[in-house]
Amino acid sequence: MIVVMKVGSPEAEIARVSEELIGWGLTPEKIVGQHKVVVGLVGETAALDPLQIQEISPWIEQVLRVEQPFKRASREFRHGEASEVIVSTPSGAVHFGEHHPVVLVAGPCSVENEEMIVETARRVKAAGAQFLRGGAYKPRTSPYAFQGHGESALGLLAAAREATGLGIITEVMDTADVEKIAEAADVVQVGARNMQNFSLLKKVGAQEKPVLLKRGMSATIEEWLMAAEYILAAGNPNVILCERGIRTFDRQYARNTLDLSVLPVLRSLTHLPIMIDPSHGTGRAEYVPTMALAAIAAGADSLMIEVHPNPAKALSDGPQSLTPDRFDRLVQEMSVIGKAVKRWREPAMALV
Ligand code: PEP
Ligand code: MN
Repeated sequence: MIVVMKVGSPEAEIARVSEELIGWGLTPEKIVGQHKVVVGLVGETAALDPLQIQEISPWIEQVLRVEQPFKRASREFRHGEASEVIVSTPSGAVHFGEHHPVVLVAGPCSVENEEMIVETARRVKAAGAQFLRGGAYKPRTSPYAFQGHGESALGLLAAAREATGLGIITEVMDTADVEKIAEAADVVQVGARNMQNFSLLKKVGAQEKPVLLKRGMSATIEEWLMAAEYILAAGNPNVILCERGIRTFDRQYARNTLDLSVLPVLRSLTHLPIMIDPSHGTGRAEYVPTMALAAIAAGADSLMIEVHPNPAKALSDGPQSLTPDRFDRLVQEMSVIGKAVKRWREPAMALV
């Protein structure tokens, strides 16, 4: 349920409404939107009569039920307004959201050694990326495949961050590693395979770094938003959703089916920012640029693209990784679409 306060409601009155609702056994959450203040109510609201709540204050404009099962993640919970996720990086705050320029995240699948991660970081930064991605802990299908360098790779990501000022995004797979990854990362990634690892979702929800939640490879949109709800319910409001392709019936030519239709669908269902990962989405470097351009045209708030200095020698996901040169060209191509949809950050180009 949400209580929409009238424009200009005095702070004291909003506080009084919240206190009254606490007295009713509810947990009010004040959400300050661009135009209005909304008090979100989560808990046993089914038996409540909206009219009864309305009577608490003449400053209450409306009391509405949130019909979706994902309450905090739903667009209704913010009375239709988009939220923004603000991430602090060594180069300043980066805003992810519908009313901000597209944020570029790039880097290798895995952190392999210091030279390659720092070199890749320099190249993607020069091209216009604001975040470096790179896995220290890798979820691999085979136990015999490279599993990532673990903790030592976190140190290498720190070196790349220091050298370039890029923010760091890296994956956490185990609840036991959340603290050390949250210390090294500016955004903590929960991968597709862990989208419904509820213990992990609760744990990343209870720490402060923003969370990038990838869509499970067989997850419905509702399951995905319910997974985001776990993080929000645990107290972390900073969740970015990332579509990375789903399993459909054809895996012969592309690794996954990149579901770009989530862009308008999620936009209508949730206020959370949306990232698209065409690298895992297609699995093939030659298909990545087309889908990256389409994602921007369709309204993505951010893109994650795998870039490796020598894809043929990559320890993971080489076939889908772009070379730094190809990434440079792709950013130029993306800027054309980005400008057309008025979502392009000009200074990124000037920084080169
Ligand atoms: C990754 O980002 O390298 C990764 C493993 O992604 P996903 O969880 O989408 O497979
Ligand atoms: Mn990968």
